[in-house]
Order: sequence, then structure tokens, then C-alpha cells
Amino acid sequence: MNLWVAKAIILLASIVLVAIRAPHGQRRRGISTVRSRKGKLEIVLLMMAWLAFFLPLIWIATPLLASADYALRPVPLLAGTVCLALGLWLFHRSHADLGANWSLTLEVLEKHRLVSQGVYRRVRHPMYTALLLYSVGQALVLPNYVAGLSSGVAMALLVALRIGPEERMMLEEFGKDYQEYIAATKRLVPGVW
Ligand code: SAH
Repeated sequence: MNLWVAKAIILLASIVLVAIRAPHGQRRRGISTVRSRKGKLEIVLLMMAWLAFFLPLIWIATPLLASADYALRPVPLLAGTVCLALGLWLFHRSHADLGANWSLTLEVLEKHRLVSQGVYRRVRHPMYTALLLYSVGQALVLPNYVAGLSSGVAMALLVALRIGPEERMMLEEFGKDYQEYIAATKRLVPGVW
């Protein structure tokens, strides 16, 4: 199958991802931070996430990673496109529901409010679920061992190493309300974990 199909899908998905995030990034700049937990680990994780975002674009635009290409098959391409679409939908929904409480890193913001409605009623970390779904989609659509798996590795590490500190921060800030929220929800997959 022609690699251009995969390239077009990945490029479109990357543009949609940025378009969903951009207005929230802009709004975030106008909100003051009350408390930040941006330690060294956070900085490393964020750098990895950026690299994982750019590697597919490098694969699209240059031949630098071509030695790690493999054959593109229709079934993974289709399944991956579905995962990308679902991931992007959930990414959009979680941004919309988190609203002015969103930030790129671990922070408590001015007028921070605990959100437990919308997709946050089902799981505590829908944005991470969205990014993991997106990464699975990318791994299936992008037939390159480096660029295809980059996002999955970065997101798996980010989620595994961030959920603990994030929930501790939320517990310190929202106390009993967050404890009740934990009791009523799973982390990433409704009814499972
Ligand atoms: N982990 C969440 C949010 C990711 S954005 C998700 O995957 O959907 C990270 C920021 O969101 C953190 O700095 C934290 O301050 C904030 N946050 C996380 N859960 C929240 C919630 N339920 N209500 C309000 N803010 C939340």
C-alpha cells in the first residue's frame, strides 16, 4: 500500500491535535499559577512528549527514518485510523470539560475547581486515555518502527510516572472531595482501572 495514505492520515491527525490544544494553551497563559509541581521528571517527560510528537512529522517530511519502515497493511491502517479518531474526540472532550483548569504540567491554578462532570464522570484521566488511544492509532497507521512507536513509549511513560504525583497533588488541594471522586471513578478505563 502507498505510504502517502499513512502520511496524509498522520499529518491530518497531528494538525487536529494541535488545533484542539491551541486555544487552551492560549487561555492558560492568562491564568496565574498558585502551586507548581514541575520538577526534573516533569521536564524530562514533557521533552519526550515533544520528541514523540515531532518524530512522525520528521518521518513524513524527510527520508531520515526510512531504514526503519515496514510494509503498510490495510487492516492495521483502518483499525489505527479508528483509534486516532476516537483519541482525538476524547482529547477534545476532556479539554472542553476541564476548561480553565487545564495545564500542560502539574499545577494548581488560580480559581482551580475540581472537575468531575462530562468525561471526568467516567474516568479521572480521560486526557491520558485519549493520548494513549491516539498513540495506539499512530503505532498501527504509521509503518515505521521508530516514528510509529515513539508516541506510545512517551505516553506510556508519562502516564505511568505522572498519575501518582498528579493524584497526590489533587488530594492535597481538594482533600475529601478528591477522595470521594477517587472512590467513584477508575483512572483510565471505565469500570476496569
Ligand atoms: N490527568 C487529567 C488532566 C491532565 S491536564 C486527564 O488526563 O484528563 C493536567 C492538569 O489537570 C493537572 O495539573 C491538574 O491540575 C489538572 N487536573 C487533573 N484532574 C483534574 C480534575 N479532575 N479537575 C480539575 N483539574 C484537574
